[in-house]
Amino acid sequence: MTFDNNHYLLSGNVDPLQLVEKYGSPLYVYDTAIIERQYKRMASAFDVPDLKINYACKANTNINILQFLQKQGAGLDAVSVQEVELGLRAGYRPDTIMYTPNSVDIAEVSEVIKKGVRINIDNISMLEQLGHEHPEVPVGIRINPHIMAGGNTKISTGHIDSKFGISIHQLPHILKVVEATGIKIEGLHMHTGSDILDANSFLLAADILLNTTVHFPDLDYVDYGSGFKVPYKKDDIETDIEEVGARISERFNQFIKDYGKTVSLIFEPGKFLVSEAGYFLMKVNVVKPTPSTVFLGVDSGLNHMIRPMFYNSYHRIENISRPSGKPRIYSVVGYICETDTFGDNRKIAEAMEGDILCLFNAGAYAFAMSSNYNSRFRPAEVMVYHGKPHLIRKRETLDDILRNQVELSFDKEEVRV
Ligand SMILES: *Cc1c(COP(=O)(O)O)cnc(C)c1O
Repeated sequence: MTFDNNHYLLSGNVDPLQLVEKYGSPLYVYDTAIIERQYKRMASAFDVPDLKINYACKANTNINILQFLQKQGAGLDAVSVQEVELGLRAGYRPDTIMYTPNSVDIAEVSEVIKKGVRINIDNISMLEQLGHEHPEVPVGIRINPHIMAGGNTKISTGHIDSKFGISIHQLPHILKVVEATGIKIEGLHMHTGSDILDANSFLLAADILLNTTVHFPDLDYVDYGSGFKVPYKKDDIETDIEEVGARISERFNQFIKDYGKTVSLIFEPGKFLVSEAGYFLMKVNVVKPTPSTVFLGVDSGLNHMIRPMFYNSYHRIENISRPSGKPRIYSVVGYICETDTFGDNRKIAEAMEGDILCLFNAGAYAFAMSSNYNSRFRPAEVMVYHGKPHLIRKRETLDDILRNQVELSFDKEEVRV
């Protein structure tokens, strides 16, 4: 969003306040100009013979986001059979979809195999089962290099007691299973977690994976997952994608020479592609001064946007109705019957009841993690595409809350006790 002449505007000069008037509040808005910018930044940061950018769609599964990124040239990273199905529905070719589940059973993996998508295996038990049942299906293996990355234990996946991937220390066991079953390993994968802060720890993990390639002569791809950090506040640190790109490309091109065969380099960004493109607009229901702080109570809560409460993550909040008002200190809280604080002691332009607040970085892990807690409806979603707004999800109704509930007739004979 740009801030010009006292107004916040989306691309094409779309006014977010008018979107709230038309579609109601609270409202998720995604600006595809930013998704496109981020995709192109990533694509041009790497200089290797075959780069693949697979959108990690768990960040935002609206089918229009999937379709938009497919048209940009992205593949898809899916973590469930349902995300695979969404990807196919969105028009992704099966061989451009990568399925990287954890803790699933062989039935789900077999179902995905039938769809012809690529698979990364995350535990030795599954590798053995697949090796016996489908030795003809090539798979990738997800390695845990045990490089600690990420700002939060819930989202960092590389540490020694993380449940993700097969430990690099278990490589001999992997090789035994490969030899015993004859299963073909077509890829090596790692995903060390969200919010990688420095290029060095990423490169260290990347190196561990490349050193492992000597044991696997038939690789088609090496997949470095994701974890690119985006800025959350003004002047915030972010992953220097251009620097990571230049350094990884150099190392990877040397690897290809040594390996003697072109291998695809894959990344699976979620947050990097869509986080900054999303805005969450909420209305101030109550201004509530107390002896300790002034609360702004909004028409939303942890049911719609749980990241601040679940991960303690910081999201910038602005009063877009009255942006030039005198800054005051507020705590922005939700309407759920639990403590659901969006931001504590924030400097925000003086707000009145009815004002619209914008919470930034709402494109990733925002709507995707929403729920119906307190029987509240989930918000509508709007996509600004080529400078024009389009409704891409309707606000829910009571029918959505009751869908799949099976109402008993307590007065009927067969139910009565
Ligand atoms: C979640 C996830 C990603 C995306 O992570 P971001 O931090 O959103 O970029 C990539 N790969 C896998 C396997 C994931 O589970």
